[in-house]
Amino acid sequence: MAQAQKITPRAEDFSEWYNDVIMQAELADYSPVRGCMVIRPNGYGIWELMQRALDDMIKASGHRNAYFPLFIPQSFLAKEAEHVEGFAKEVALVTHTRLKATGKTGAAAVMPDPASALEEALVVRPTSETIIYAMFAKWIQSYRDLPLLINQWCNVVRWELRTRLFLRTTEFLWQEGHTAHADEAGAEQEARLILGIYRKFAEEWMAMPVITGVKTESERFAGALRTYAIEALMQDRKALQAGTSHHLGQNFAKAFDVKYQTAAGGLEHVWSTSWGVTTRLIGGLIMTHADDNGMICPPRLAPIQVVIVPIWKSDAERTQVLAVGERIAADLGAAGVRVTLDSRDTMKPGAKYFEWEAQGVPLRLEIGPRDVAANQVMTARRIGGKTPAAMNGLTEAVRSALDEIQSTLLGAARDRREAASIRGVTRDQFIAFMKEQGGFAYGGFCGDGTCEAAIKQETAATVRVLPDPEFRSTPAPTTCMWCGKPSKAEAVWAQAY
Ligand SMILES: [Zn+2]
Repeated sequence: MAQAQKITPRAEDFSEWYNDVIMQAELADYSPVRGCMVIRPNGYGIWELMQRALDDMIKASGHRNAYFPLFIPQSFLAKEAEHVEGFAKEVALVTHTRLKATGKTGAAAVMPDPASALEEALVVRPTSETIIYAMFAKWIQSYRDLPLLINQWCNVVRWELRTRLFLRTTEFLWQEGHTAHADEAGAEQEARLILGIYRKFAEEWMAMPVITGVKTESERFAGALRTYAIEALMQDRKALQAGTSHHLGQNFAKAFDVKYQTAAGGLEHVWSTSWGVTTRLIGGLIMTHADDNGMICPPRLAPIQVVIVPIWKSDAERTQVLAVGERIAADLGAAGVRVTLDSRDTMKPGAKYFEWEAQGVPLRLEIGPRDVAANQVMTARRIGGKTPAAMNGLTEAVRSALDEIQSTLLGAARDRREAASIRGVTRDQFIAFMKEQGGFAYGGFCGDGTCEAAIKQETAATVRVLPDPEFRSTPAPTTCMWCGKPSKAEAVWAQAY
């Protein structure tokens, strides 16, 4: 279990703070494989809850889960030109199928057996469009087969040089949705539907407010017609792309020859979408809510929502408070609350508080002999606030405290984001904002890639999205905040993870 190590304060070094929170909360660890992480039970528990919630939403909107191979023939990646360009520099290849002994020692004791070289190398999937379209081409014959709505939960590999736990790792876990539709409108509607689901999940489950919108050409997915995204602002005022939904047009359908017979008897390529969120969301959860004492988990995604810490001095007291603690744990458990009773007698209550706080458990119940006598428990919220609660009606009180913590976290994150946003920026304001503070900067944009590149060069900020109407400024900007030419769309810039 975690030792009382110090967590670097956010203000001192955000990146060190982030790693310290993960280590103290035992969410993940570095692995012997460079760039790959081990997700520890506390972190995986959060992922499982994320999966469960999102999977329900994905299924409720008509999608079904399937599973496709980890390996993709190298030639498949060559079929869609932009796609291969986007992923060529970060793939892992399988070229041999056997090792042979060399008679040497150490790592050199084995080598790939040249006789086992594959005729065609296999790519470890960086994403599964190519193999899924190869199957769609088999499964889709007529308009009656459409729409085809498939989702897959799996791992993917993108060979990253600079990695960070959860945010950027060579192997990560995700869901990837892939759908085929009869026409452009169907694919567009799907891409937007999923964006709405991602937003709902981010806000209602993660308590992480997001801006939705469309990506510029330079930021969109390799091979997509349009990429939509949800973007969140972290506590260090850097943006995190938290989920993407791509309208792929007919690009992949043409590359993989996915055609269907129309009702009128003609032959058309399908229109398709793909969309995904990853274990990066856990990084987003940490950087949205955690503080200098460690992790703060929104109740809906907390593997443990309530910890009960009994307090005793004598054996008689121990027996008494443990009995009450067990009863409360049973009641809360029966009511669907994820609860644990910390009955360890090797640790003092204070040390237990410290440990559960670092792990981000939203609510702690303390029960001492005096509480038992008064027929109450002390409730301590991870976000601050300690109040007694009567034993009568405790389950309801716990439920409403958890709801309140969930909505307080969302509100606080939204306030923080708005405080870190500026609108209607001029070029000078923009440069100063990005150099001195960072955050979301809203401004007019001419739509020209050269402006975008110059802005990135000078400020490291990129267009996060061209925001959807509800996020736009009034009045709308009329000129590009960088070059002064007429604005084609308002853009939201930020330095990003
Ligand atoms: Zn411009």
